[in-house]
Amino acid sequence: MKSIAIFPGSFDPITLGHVSVVKRSLGLFDELIIAIGINADKKQMFTVEQRKAWIELVFKNEKKIKVATYEGLTVDFCRKKNAQFILRGLRTAADFEFERGIGQINRKLDPNIETVFLLTEAQYTPITSSIVRDVLRNGGDVSTMVPDVLQIHKRK
Ligand code: ADP
Repeated sequence: MKSIAIFPGSFDPITLGHVSVVKRSLGLFDELIIAIGINADKKQMFTVEQRKAWIELVFKNEKKIKVATYEGLTVDFCRKKNAQFILRGLRTAADFEFERGIGQINRKLDPNIETVFLLTEAQYTPITSSIVRDVLRNGGDVSTMVPDVLQIHKRK
């Protein structure tokens, strides 16, 4: 059976931390679907279309990677795509507590889907999409935080 994983997130925008987790996971799965969750309650800086286009650009040469958007429960989206795994990155103890809750609830919702965690590489631990947005809003340089192809290193 083909092993398929979903990497769910907001990716507002995708960062070097996300890219690192994605690349390191490619040896584990036959297919990885990077899935942008559409959450009407969350205030976003970039449109879903923009976020998706960037992710596609970053991974355009990776045949195993697909990019999608979804609404609703992540486990429902996994079932729709026949994915057996949810991939998540862990940066800090705070991430762990948050992810523990989501992971255990997802397991209750569907015990056939396993969440797989990868520890972030040390140099990417402080990078979050929300910090990137803050730095951008204030005219700072995010070139060490996001892939070059985004071309949003510094607000004009
Ligand atoms: P969410 O809104 O679901 O937290 P994010 O786009 O912020 O979505 O993150 C998606 C996934 O990527 C999460 O598992 C998160 O822990 C992971 N992630 C985010 N930033 C990093 C990073 N710097 N290093 C490793 N993993 C990260």
